[in-house]
Order: sequence, then C-alpha cells, then structure tokens
Amino acid sequence: MNLPELLILSRDLHVELGEISGTCCVCGNKTETGHRINFSGNFTNWDILQFGDCICEKCNILFQDQIYRRSSWIATVDEFKTGKARELITFLENPAYPFAMYLTWSGKKQGYLYLIDAVNESEYVTIGFDYDIYSFSIPDFIDYYNEVKSLLVQNVIKTELLTGNFRFKTFEKLGRKKIEELEQRKKVRLWQLAIKLA
Ligand SMILES: [Zn+2]
Repeated sequence: MNLPELLILSRDLHVELGEISGTCCVCGNKTETGHRINFSGNFTNWDILQFGDCICEKCNILFQDQIYRRSSWIATVDEFKTGKARELITFLENPAYPFAMYLTWSGKKQGYLYLIDAVNESEYVTIGFDYDIYSFSIPDFIDYYNEVKSLLVQNVIKTELLTGNFRFKTFEKLGRKKIEELEQRKKVRLWQLAIKLA
C-alpha cells in the first residue's frame, strides 16, 4: 500500500478516473486512467516528482486537498487525524499499523510527497517533517523523547540540548558524565527531532 492508497481508505475518498495512459510522475506506476499534469501556481516542488507523463488517479487525490500541506496529520486505515505536531507525535507511544505521518511547522511545503512509499507496517518507521525525512525504530524515538521530557522537567532548556552548551547550573545538576553523553548526542538527528517535539 502506498500513501495515496492509504489516504483513500482513511478518508473514504472518491477516486476520479482520468483518460490518460502513461506513467505517474508521483508514484512511478503505470496507469490507463491518469490525469493531466496541471498543478496550480503555488506548486513549487518539481524536484520531488519523477519522470512521468501524467498523475495516476490515486496520486491525484494528493493535489485535491490543501489539508495535506497545511496541517500535520496521521493517516491510518480507520482515521485521518490533524493537529499540532507536538500532539500527533504521541501517536507513536501506541501506534496502529499501517499508518503514515507528516508533521509540519510551516504548513507551506509539500514534503508529504516524499512519503509516497512511507506507509509504516512495523515499528521501524519513516515519517516526514516538512522537507526532512526521518527513519527510525519507534522504541529508540520514545527513549529519546522521554529523556528530553524528563530533562525539561529538571529545568534544562532546549537550546542547551540542541547546542551542547550547558549552563553551569545544569552542569552541576546532571554531572560531568551525563553532560558529556548529551554533548556527544547533539548531532544525532533523532535526538534533535525528540527535542523539537517534546
Ligand atoms: Zn501515482
């Protein structure tokens, strides 16, 4: 199952058939009922698209609703949920498979087009965050996420975690060993993601 197929189930969408035979420039599949490539003026993400001569009837739904771009969302077979990125990420604490997840702060990017094949069936997942793609195992993320939460409760600030420059009082509180561990981790992308979303 790819992303448009999941969204069609999730939102119970009607698939409108077109009349063009060719290769879809979004998913790369062949179709005999595709649509003409005719993006609106605010579409700027040509680099995401593959070579193709049409948009298949399924991928076409991705361009028919601005909600995929403007909101953070999670799609499962039963539900399509939008909300704030920080709220939606808690879905990973108790995920229902298969699912797809796209998070955005800008609401202006079409980063979800990178997720065409990112329908997650097991705990090793791929999610999108604006133009960034993160692939990780859910337990690894949850470990980081819980650790960040607990550090924030101890009055450590996010900038310290992101930069690895700790204030003296944080140094005193956590001790040298922990500080060194956190300094080394600052460039780990999954750790950075956990900090942003905690
Ligand atoms: Zn397609």
